[in-house]
Amino acid sequence: MSLPSKVSIICPQCGNSFDTTIWLSVNATATPDLRESLMAGKLNILKCPACGCIFEPDSELVYHDVERRFMIRYLENPTDKLNAPSVEPDSYAGGFPDSYALRIVDTRNKLVEKIKIFEDGLDDRVIEAIKLYYLYGTKKIGWVDENSIFYLETLKDDDELVFLVREGELDPDKIKVPYANYQSVTDEIAQVIRLAEIPGWVVIDRMFAEHLLRRAGILPSGAGE
Ligand SMILES: [Zn+2]
Repeated sequence: MSLPSKVSIICPQCGNSFDTTIWLSVNATATPDLRESLMAGKLNILKCPACGCIFEPDSELVYHDVERRFMIRYLENPTDKLNAPSVEPDSYAGGFPDSYALRIVDTRNKLVEKIKIFEDGLDDRVIEAIKLYYLYGTKKIGWVDENSIFYLETLKDDDELVFLVREGELDPDKIKVPYANYQSVTDEIAQVIRLAEIPGWVVIDRMFAEHLLRRAGILPSGAGE
């Protein structure tokens, strides 16, 4: 079930107060139109009826794909609220089967990226590792932060993964990585961790991948301590 909430919102620009509906949880399987809206960057984006300014209200969102068995919580300040989800997903209140992937993200772009990764049948831990390989290999690690590099899509015909990389103020570049590299990084990581799902809600980000690759002793040259 997707869960709407009627709320009274104050416009951050003009201070006008208005009533609206915000989605606290999206079940992508039951309500694919909400998924579309999220992927198009429209879900929970409000327009003030008085001044016309467009903004994202302070809220959190739980995204649930029942078929592909993953849930993602979008929280802007995850360290403040790492306890139980405030929106208890219906029918899973008793706990999740181990095969569920449970992720926490702190930006909308990361939420959309995770959805793409899981929908394409990929492992986000491997994707984060590939980003590090690329950034260390090209010596861009110091100036491409983790909000400037994202998985975009898989080109089935060419067997390539496509990433968007933004350097500074430049327009983003598309970087293509052969699918064979994805498989070899998967094999390397599998030697360090069992590639089963990690139980519980976790953040899989650059820091996670740094830790993983250091532990494996395979962080590319040029890495920090
Ligand atoms: Zn306004």
